[in-house]
Amino acid sequence: MQGKIALEEHFALEETLQDSVRFAPQADWPELRLRLLDIHDRRLREMDENGIEMMLLSLNAPAVQAIADTAAAAETARRANDFLAEQVRRRPDRFRGLAALPMQDPEIATRELTHCVRDLGFIGALVNGFSDVAAQDKPGYYDLPQYRPFWAEVERLDVPFYLHPRNPRPQDAGIYDGHPWLLGPTWAFGQETAVHALRLMGSGLFDAYPGLRIVLGHMGEGLPYSLWRIDNRTGWMSQRNRYPAKRLIADYFRENFYITTSGNFRTQTLIDAMLEIGADRILFSTDWPFENVDHAATWFDAATISEADRLKIGRLNARALFKLGAEHR
Ligand code: MN
Repeated sequence: MQGKIALEEHFALEETLQDSVRFAPQADWPELRLRLLDIHDRRLREMDENGIEMMLLSLNAPAVQAIADTAAAAETARRANDFLAEQVRRRPDRFRGLAALPMQDPEIATRELTHCVRDLGFIGALVNGFSDVAAQDKPGYYDLPQYRPFWAEVERLDVPFYLHPRNPRPQDAGIYDGHPWLLGPTWAFGQETAVHALRLMGSGLFDAYPGLRIVLGHMGEGLPYSLWRIDNRTGWMSQRNRYPAKRLIADYFRENFYITTSGNFRTQTLIDAMLEIGADRILFSTDWPFENVDHAATWFDAATISEADRLKIGRLNARALFKLGAEHR
């Protein structure tokens, strides 16, 4: 399929590059490093060869989210966003920007997002899970009350928020002791991100701000497969899940969430997601440079779904969600 749009696609600054070292064997690091630092050469070639018209670019992980010092986090986010804006200015026909945000301080994050959308032309944000916050010993999850004004602004700006994975902190990762292979994309990324998304849903965030649109990668981090059980556990008993939110988790997942195919190139999984949330809420992505563009595209272009759904998932849903229509003509 030609004209695909991909939205979980990463780059690194020299100063955030080291965050990605742990996700590649030593032998593959030189290759990953080159891929992360490239924007206009190898990346564009991969896009051309695989029918990708546009990539929405975002900083690597955990980057800003793992910088506990607020001022330093804000500084790195600002540098990343300025750098990204410059790259997009060079090729607005092929790239768009998703903002990195210093969520350590909700007020600064709000200002940075507003700046990115209004002044730099960014079309959303991509945040790498919870934030390390120097002033507190707990991870900063975004269902916490101090983030409500931030979410109000996200809704007002009307831009999607991509909740991207990171690993749990070592002190919160006891279940993985002795099994480091389970960290990262294998399992911990999905578990960490799915729980964060469930926290957002159960907190009542989407009752307060029903216009919010959250994007999850990796075919929804396992949530489509578990959606029925979350709401229907022990169905004969007298009480449902107790949480501050007003509605079922599936209601929020189907109305406030979108998922992408990043790093999860499996037709069986895609069809489960289509049956649970519908083809209108699924978007093609690759997760370059951690995954190969050709692995994603070769799979997606031949997946046994209808051509109408392929067009939606590959292109039309992204154009609608990120309002690419008007600017692109
Ligand atoms: Mn990713």
